[in-house]
Amino acid sequence: MNTAFINGKIYCSFKPLKVVEAMLIENGRIKFLGRREEILKLCKDSTEIVDLDGKVVIPGFVDTHVHLDELGIFLNSLNLRDAESIDDLKRRLKEFAKRCKTYWIIGYGWDQELLGRYPTKNDLDEVVKDRPVLLSRFCLHAGVVNSKAIEICEMHKFNKPFIDLERGIVKEFAYSLVRRKVRESFSRNELKYILKSAMDHVLSFGVTSVGFMGCRKEIFEILKEMNLNLRVFVYTRDFYEKFSNCFLNVKGVKVFLDGSLGVKTALLSEPYEDDDTCGCQLMDEYELEKIVRDAERKGYQVALHAIGDRAIDLALNVLEKVKGRNRIEHASVLRDDQVERLSKIDVVISVQPHFIEGDWWIAKRLGKRTRWVYRIRSLLERGIKVGFGTDAPVEPVNPWETVYYAVTRGKYEGLEIYDFTRDEVISVQDALNCYTINSAYVLMEEGNIGSLEVGKFADFIILDKDPLEIDEKDLKKIKVLKTFVNGKLVNECY
Ligand code: ZN
Repeated sequence: MNTAFINGKIYCSFKPLKVVEAMLIENGRIKFLGRREEILKLCKDSTEIVDLDGKVVIPGFVDTHVHLDELGIFLNSLNLRDAESIDDLKRRLKEFAKRCKTYWIIGYGWDQELLGRYPTKNDLDEVVKDRPVLLSRFCLHAGVVNSKAIEICEMHKFNKPFIDLERGIVKEFAYSLVRRKVRESFSRNELKYILKSAMDHVLSFGVTSVGFMGCRKEIFEILKEMNLNLRVFVYTRDFYEKFSNCFLNVKGVKVFLDGSLGVKTALLSEPYEDDDTCGCQLMDEYELEKIVRDAERKGYQVALHAIGDRAIDLALNVLEKVKGRNRIEHASVLRDDQVERLSKIDVVISVQPHFIEGDWWIAKRLGKRTRWVYRIRSLLERGIKVGFGTDAPVEPVNPWETVYYAVTRGKYEGLEIYDFTRDEVISVQDALNCYTINSAYVLMEEGNIGSLEVGKFADFIILDKDPLEIDEKDLKKIKVLKTFVNGKLVNECY
């Protein structure tokens, strides 16, 4: 199967910037890049010729950090973020129940302040009786369930302080238990459906490869059975398995060193500005070294979740002792001495620039340390490889949103974080470089993906605008018209 794409503005790579007008694809890989006449000379009778009509082509995006299962569940749940009254909530639930494909009906995002009061079991029972329902509060620390859910989860056995059976309200521990029951309740077919919807969603935004963080064995087994169009690089939490084909690949293991800034569990070297705590250490150095050395021996990469500067110290202490291209996830709060230490070892950083918007309150937590957050430019200037990700569903999959925040850092939204970190803005060209070849490097796949080069997979997207010629304010308006993986059209926007 040969296809020639001609008359385009094809960005093969962003650093160095390389642009051609035509490319030839053979059996899913790039065979030749160059001028239209050169390519046409190489075409055979059977070669399909596609006229790009001057459109812009770039390599497919590589998202280093997503949670496909959670994303799929999120996409198949009812959004109640702006529900304004109990009646409104009921109406939406009724409508959603009709099209919801999973047995459990899941919703999230309600706020009793907006609704006027807490929703109750009786409210839900009035709408859905025959299937279990769980609607989470926007904080994801509490939810309301219907009678069917109470029956299925045997909630009368739950610990009292966290559950109000009368009203169907579950909190904290009890809430987590229900969530786990929901997850465990999914049939193989439902999980397949959930994963497929997540992958289709990702592809529709022009993301052609992902790092799937914290993939469970059960989910991995299902992915193995599926016909994938998205390249999935798996970071496990409960199994090791040597497995690789051109769409599914086990890369490494994910380890948590701390929590998050939002709930003050990210581990800082000095207390939070608005609390006495320094956060939580989820693993000690000795234990971490054991895991990292074990992974090194078995030939796996380690991805260390480290947000606070103390957690990053911990990561550095261990990573300085071992060989291999290991990853630090988020690296949100970085002191100068740490940037220096990072530049001396073969470590790669997976950053989520959309957190800049998500963590708009960050100065409250960190005070003047806010100048140390998401230091993308400092890292790049020291030659450290920074790949981009979204942590979807935590932040939206759409790469243009991420590029926008990496380039503007809340300048137009008046975010405080911009005042502290305006020196950390990067160019669109740098952002696209991070999101393609650097992300590929983070996944140790730079030989196969991340740029359009002869011999690499033909993973690319066609855009409606040129990102390098657009006003930065309009970056989020860019549309991905078509997504190609292995030279095959896998998504088209109408
Ligand atoms: Zn994550």
